[in-house]
Amino acid sequence: MIYGGCGVYKAILIDVDGVIKQGKTLIPRVDKAIGIMRERSVRFMLVTNNSTKTPQVLSGELNASGLVIKEKEIMTSSQVLMSLLKQSAKLHSKAVSGVYVVGESGLIEELRSNGYTLTSDVTWGVVAVGLDRGFTYTKLATATRSIMLGASYICTNTDRTYPTEDGLMPGAGSIAASITAATGRRPLIVGKPSKTFFKQALRRLGGDLSVSDVLIVGDRPETDIKMANLVGCDSVLVLSGVTKNAAKLRGLYKPTYVFSDLYEAVEKLLSTPVG
Ligand SMILES: [Mg+2]
Repeated sequence: MIYGGCGVYKAILIDVDGVIKQGKTLIPRVDKAIGIMRERSVRFMLVTNNSTKTPQVLSGELNASGLVIKEKEIMTSSQVLMSLLKQSAKLHSKAVSGVYVVGESGLIEELRSNGYTLTSDVTWGVVAVGLDRGFTYTKLATATRSIMLGASYICTNTDRTYPTEDGLMPGAGSIAASITAATGRRPLIVGKPSKTFFKQALRRLGGDLSVSDVLIVGDRPETDIKMANLVGCDSVLVLSGVTKNAAKLRGLYKPTYVFSDLYEAVEKLLSTPVG
């Protein structure tokens, strides 16, 4: 039997903001979509560039909204940043001498619970940057002076904005852009669309998967779809988030499929044998 596009995917990486939820509100039918994946034993992981919440907190919020997602079914850019510090001998030794965080509890907890010492002063160790809704001139100055002293500059993601119920708000990319403007240095980026992020997700889904087994579903061409294009796997652009009109898509990043939402993608690609 031939499956159209489709029954061939063993695992799906699913973006969160704009695909699973918008602000605090679940996007309609995501529970059914997750249900189909569980029923068909298709492995999945929610993958988010949002560094502000730990998987535990995000899982708790989704469960409270009626979508049952386990902590281990979520991967955040904060986790990938922490893994990179552990895996790279050079970054690890710098991080041990002090990490200055521009970020919120998701990033802070991840680093702290893995034994890294956080500092509130200028450091020559590591400057770790994520979305920080309490970002100030003082934080900008400390990050800038640290990087100028020789600290490594790592950023969870460079999304310029993120969607909320009130519309788009400035994202971690806007904060990183101000630090880059001050230092002239570009950060090492660990979130989508980096290959680092994809490799970490693949590792967590199990070592047996190859790139062609994996489908990436997201609402943002320059992160979700770009990552798929970079690593060479199929992708779905959904229109439930920041992209409303696929016909207006400019630019370089081409999804394999466009669907209205996650449910339609799962229903079309996983449920329907063809031929
Ligand atoms: Mg998104």
